[in-house]
Amino acid sequence: MDDLRRHAVDYLDGQAGEAREIAREIWNFAEIALEEFKSAELLEDVLEQHGFEVQRGVGDLPTAFIARWGDSGPAVGILGEYDALPHCGDSHEKQGHGCGHNLFGTASAYAAIGAARALRESGAKGRVVCFGCPAEETLEGKVYMARDGAFDGLDAAVTWHPGEKNFTRGGSTNAMDSIVFEFYGETAHSARDPWNGRSALDGVEIMNYGVNMMREHVIEPVKIHYVITDGGVAPNVVPSYSRVWYYVRAPKRSMVNELSERVRNCAKAGALASGTTMKETLLTAVYENLPNSALAHCVQRNLEFVGAHSYTEEAKEFARKLGYEEPLSEDVSPLDPADIRPSNERGNVSWLTPLGNLMVTCHAPGTPGHSWLATQQYGMEIGEKGMMTAAKTMAATALELIGDESVLKQVREEFEEKTRGFAYDPLIPEGQKPNPLGMR
Ligand SMILES: [Zn+2]
Ligand SMILES: [Zn+2]
Repeated sequence: MDDLRRHAVDYLDGQAGEAREIAREIWNFAEIALEEFKSAELLEDVLEQHGFEVQRGVGDLPTAFIARWGDSGPAVGILGEYDALPHCGDSHEKQGHGCGHNLFGTASAYAAIGAARALRESGAKGRVVCFGCPAEETLEGKVYMARDGAFDGLDAAVTWHPGEKNFTRGGSTNAMDSIVFEFYGETAHSARDPWNGRSALDGVEIMNYGVNMMREHVIEPVKIHYVITDGGVAPNVVPSYSRVWYYVRAPKRSMVNELSERVRNCAKAGALASGTTMKETLLTAVYENLPNSALAHCVQRNLEFVGAHSYTEEAKEFARKLGYEEPLSEDVSPLDPADIRPSNERGNVSWLTPLGNLMVTCHAPGTPGHSWLATQQYGMEIGEKGMMTAAKTMAATALELIGDESVLKQVREEFEEKTRGFAYDPLIPEGQKPNPLGMR
């Protein structure tokens, strides 16, 4: 097994130049959620060139892909993302890779390539499946892929994210619903005959008032946030249409179900009190991450096996010039079992197969997420060296899971135990396409 892992790591060291070119190309494409056509194609092509059988498009997601290698033995999934963000380019109106998904998708493809290469050379049995997961930033890709059965049949999976330290995340995340409430009223002249109007904006405001009162009566980790995306067009016209977009987050899926029901009741109250009608659309629904301690330890072991990358003086100087005095992390930090507040649709996958979550140094400590300051670091050595550490660690993890029966057994047993009696509910309606209201 050590030979397999060593082989993959050495092979990937030799692929670093090619991987960097791909990551830079995706960085330049900077395609946002559901528009990642060129980025997906580039990764699909490279996987195909390395002997993977590539399914281009998954269900209603043309920019998703599944690349498979091997026909028998344990199946390990490697999850990649490649969507960029609005406002994260070198000027406010430009898109950019402010979350480092150019590195994310590339590392995941190369992890799969490295693991498959080691298996092929050694003749060992095993399957490697690389998942191209679009639209992470809008929390949609994996939700729809999971609904459509993309992750069925895996023994385990591993994923990663660019960060400011090298470590394994062992804790949970918040579950979440993203719901849009649309209110429909009647227009009238706001001064001449307002009695003939029914304000859709009043519906939204009454709803929000109800939700804001509710905040006192929810447990502390609950987070509810909204934006009014349509509030009418002119003060002298009673608004006939208004729209509010909510995120409801809590540590457990069951809590979110209950909270969303209370939020819905506030929406109904808004409609009733304002004499308007209301329509709701669930855009996406995310599970909390289901931790798997055996798998987290396996990822961490492999991160230690691979070791942390170090930076050149130029890279360190680049970080200092951006304003970061604290040095770039060049060692392996301990596994972190803490739960975190944000939500991620990786959580949905974690209920379908055991999922390991790696974090790798790709930016200087203190760099704001989703910013041009981050984007710059993901387009040069600081991020690109981290990308290769991620690729090597995930390849080695996949090879340990495939090659060491006792490890996979432990991971699976923990998963079966934690999901006993659980049946996956996709939560979003059957047949609904991603982003049905065109929200961005
Ligand atoms: Zn991200
Ligand atoms: Zn992000």
